[in-house]
Amino acid sequence: MYNQKIDELIESWREDIYQTLKDWIAIDSPSSPSAGEGKPFGENVRKVLDLALSDAEKMGFSVRNIDGYAGEINLGQGEQTMGMLAHLDIVPAGDGWTHDPFGCERENGKVYGRGVQDDKGPAVAALYAMRAVKEAGIELKDGVRLILGTDEESGMRGMRYYKAHEKMPDYGFSPDADYPLINIEKGGIGILLSAVSDGESDAEIPIYELNAGIRSNVVPGTARAVVGTEKVSAEEIRSRLAVMEPEAMAYEINVTELEGNRAQIETVGVQAHASLPHLGLNAAGLLFKALKRIGAGGGIKDAVAAMADKFGTEGHGESAGIKTDDEECGPLTCNIGLLRFDGTQLRVTLDIRWPLATNEEKILGQMCMALSDTPLAVRRTGGHGVHYVPKDHKVVKGLLEVYHDVTGLPAYPIAIGGGTYSRMMPNTVAFGICFPGDVDTCHMPDEYIDWEKFILSTKIFAHAIEKLAGKP
Ligand SMILES: [Zn+2]
Repeated sequence: MYNQKIDELIESWREDIYQTLKDWIAIDSPSSPSAGEGKPFGENVRKVLDLALSDAEKMGFSVRNIDGYAGEINLGQGEQTMGMLAHLDIVPAGDGWTHDPFGCERENGKVYGRGVQDDKGPAVAALYAMRAVKEAGIELKDGVRLILGTDEESGMRGMRYYKAHEKMPDYGFSPDADYPLINIEKGGIGILLSAVSDGESDAEIPIYELNAGIRSNVVPGTARAVVGTEKVSAEEIRSRLAVMEPEAMAYEINVTELEGNRAQIETVGVQAHASLPHLGLNAAGLLFKALKRIGAGGGIKDAVAAMADKFGTEGHGESAGIKTDDEECGPLTCNIGLLRFDGTQLRVTLDIRWPLATNEEKILGQMCMALSDTPLAVRRTGGHGVHYVPKDHKVVKGLLEVYHDVTGLPAYPIAIGGGTYSRMMPNTVAFGICFPGDVDTCHMPDEYIDWEKFILSTKIFAHAIEKLAGKP
């Protein structure tokens, strides 16, 4: 039976909800250096945490402040605990706003402010959802806990502290991503490929410098090499490149003469997120192919050729021997994120996102095998497993049912290559707050929420609590 009481209560609190959101948004709370005991992420993170907990206390909830690292808002107790995980830290407002980033201004059905979407807004919605459940008198079989994190944007140290000191909820959701629901986040592994120049100096086209990438989780949009033109002119390099076989996407390769018998080769691809390589074109991979094509290299010639042959502009590790996929997660992705060469050591950072069909050990073994006849050394720099809640789990089934019942929209689980806050809790999925087709304004100027959809989300969360933690 659809609980109308929940919706009526939330409708009657519209102004109240707006005022609470406005108060929380008014505090500029990016995670900052420690400001002393109880303020591990600075004064303002503590300030918004205190405000959120005191607002919840006024509504009659029991609250706990976990040494300034996280907050807890609790409703009832039971055999298990259902968790909702949101965060109060924000990314800095940055430039380009046409609204006050801390003003929570309303205009044409939208509410603007840093954090309205990511993730103070969802935290406010979850709080009022709990209030609706409480005031509608819904009987619970499990306890309900809203956990407020404080450092999601810069390392999740707040939740790590919470994990180390507190008992985690048994299941739940985190409204810090997208609807309908994300139940799979691929595993990740970082790999450093390296090779040392053998010092060969009489190469036809020696490479002096290579550079690409800002972060390993981004497909580089540009890459550059500095090469010698003593034996082969820039003009000749240009004509050798002109016959390069075309790529799937349009690209540019520019050769510029520099002083001292040197030239710069710049490749222009398409920047994208590492987890979505098909949306980009890897400029670093393209540079390796260009350098191989013109026979450049000197002391790293074989390593450059190997990078061109085994990776190139591929996004799924095809030639590196690690390509795989499964029905639920989709394909493995492999991105050349960072490239550096200063004349002695070549360093290439790979960002790999892997599906359930494989694992770290397998990937490392396959890659070492594929690169065994090259000078490239393979080293793992970090990683994490797949975060996965099966699609027949009660959390996935229950939340999708609620989403469909409240919105009438099609409900289906999604697998992604990126990570969300939900991986901090067991049996927890990402659920909201962006609807399919919404403009994702997280971390952008003029971050906004559609007010009607925000109220709708508050209702969805309340029905979700009733569904998962309520007595049958
Ligand atoms: Zn977030």
